[in-house]
Amino acid sequence: MKPAIGILGGTFDPVHYGHLMPAQETMQKLALAQMRLMPNHIPPHRPQPIASAQQRLTMLQLAVSSMPGFTVDGRELGHHRPSYTIDTLIQMRLELPDTPFCFLIGMDSLLSLPHWHRWRELTDYAHLIVSVRPGWTAPRQGELADFIQQHQMGDPADLHRHLHGGLYWMQNTPIDLSATQLRADLAAGRAVAGRIPAATADYLQQQRIYCRSVI
Ligand code: ATP
Repeated sequence: MKPAIGILGGTFDPVHYGHLMPAQETMQKLALAQMRLMPNHIPPHRPQPIASAQQRLTMLQLAVSSMPGFTVDGRELGHHRPSYTIDTLIQMRLELPDTPFCFLIGMDSLLSLPHWHRWRELTDYAHLIVSVRPGWTAPRQGELADFIQQHQMGDPADLHRHLHGGLYWMQNTPIDLSATQLRADLAAGRAVAGRIPAATADYLQQQRIYCRSVI
């Protein structure tokens, strides 16, 4: 078995330290071999990000340039149809048959999991690593609570012993940041230093990506 890797999907409109710091903490605490940031393709019928796919990709590449172990995987952006997480994980499993996958999600995303395509099958391909996020708490009852109960894993070493199947709670340092809040601040001309990596902030300001955005 190869060392486990981390995968963090998202819109990244723009990428911020609420994505990067929990991912870095998770990579270190769980001894993951790498952390892949994977920007989502947004289907045309859904609200579109303000930044283009290419701009979101560039912002991520600039962000990870100073973060050892971090890479950007832009495979979903190349598709002309929606690529569901389950399809991406199936494809990655074919490429890396002996590597455990740790798919990171924030608590807010965990709560929306039952709306994801074939969500129950995600743990057939990856472990789910759930990061705390200020303002969100885990469900206590219902189908998601049952799913959590079935998959909960207590020993992080098991994440390296099994290719998939676990759900692990990551008690990361909570970071109260969202892209929504950052877009609003950028549109209003407020400073974002310390919330977005400097190289990414320089790029988005130079490109004037969120200057006149309607939030
Ligand atoms: P938006 O405000 O536009 O909805 P966002 O800040 O929530 O964006 P996304 O790109 O939608 O960012 O999130 C990608 C992933 O990162 C999701 O799993 C989300 O839960 C997680 N995430 C985002 N911000 C945080 C944060 N501050 N703490 C922990 N997890 C986070």
